[in-house]
Amino acid sequence: MRAAVLASPDSIFDRPLRLEEIPKPEARAGYLLLRMRACGVCRTDLHIVEGELPQRLNPLIPGHQIVGEVVGGETQEIPVGTRVGVSWIGGVDGTCAYCRRGLENLCDAPTFTGYTTHGGYAEYALARADFAFPLPEALDDLHCAPLLCAGIIGFRSIRVAGVEKGDRVGLFGFGASAHLAISVLRAWGCDVYVSTRGTSHRELAKSLGATWVGSETEKPPVELDRAITFAPSGDVAVAALSSLRKGGVVAINAIHLDRIPEFNYDRLLWGERQIRSVANMARSDARDFLQTASEIGLKPQITVFPLDRANEALAAVKNDSVNGAAVLVP
Ligand SMILES: [Zn+2]
Ligand SMILES: [Zn+2]
Repeated sequence: MRAAVLASPDSIFDRPLRLEEIPKPEARAGYLLLRMRACGVCRTDLHIVEGELPQRLNPLIPGHQIVGEVVGGETQEIPVGTRVGVSWIGGVDGTCAYCRRGLENLCDAPTFTGYTTHGGYAEYALARADFAFPLPEALDDLHCAPLLCAGIIGFRSIRVAGVEKGDRVGLFGFGASAHLAISVLRAWGCDVYVSTRGTSHRELAKSLGATWVGSETEKPPVELDRAITFAPSGDVAVAALSSLRKGGVVAINAIHLDRIPEFNYDRLLWGERQIRSVANMARSDARDFLQTASEIGLKPQITVFPLDRANEALAAVKNDSVNGAAVLVP
């Protein structure tokens, strides 16, 4: 099969992915063999390919927003011919203290698709059968791919923030996750307030139904019930916190924050306001989100690249020059 393979991480402009002809993986117990239909390109792929994340598998086939058709290793629940999605969490151990508490998103020993195992920048891929999600018919291959990481994480953030229907919700930052989350929030009758950098992001937020848009740390004109921050910035987290009503919640969707600046407890946290972080995803988030996406007709903007242009797709993500989400097709 053809695959875009990473041997040594390097700047994306030096084209670190090489298109190679390699043996097709073989189905084995507990795994599905998938023929790829599409694979979304995530910013995390860029961090892997450029070596910002330490290399865990060498050589590596990246890609963790997989839409594939089962061609081998079928199970009772997922027969051959089923269309499934696979996301960043490729598996958990099922035995650690977190898994046993039903908190699999916090598992001590997870596997990550396209990072600790081979991913979807290829014609075929293997995926753990219990971490493959049958896809609702309403979601087509290409538009479904970007939902499988950014979309699921955005949905989990909404849950961690405790959003209820009709809430006033602030989104701080408006990238891949937020621009999918806003459609879910609008479908739930929430008023959405978006603070973000860049006029194009603000215009997009408006066109997707934001009640109000402002700059990065600008405070919405009303007190928020919930807020979600997507920027890796502690200043933004504090701006979000300062926008909350009593009892409100900020969910921080960022793996790293630069730092959280000192802030005034009496004014910002007193009154049972809460700060929470969002870590990974559970299978229930994926299933519930895909169902919701199908019900509300969620259709992200995409730009399609052929597999042999994987370097160009990632470079476009890096340059912010891609229109919507980049999707590779084999
Ligand atoms: Zn991702
Ligand atoms: Zn575990």
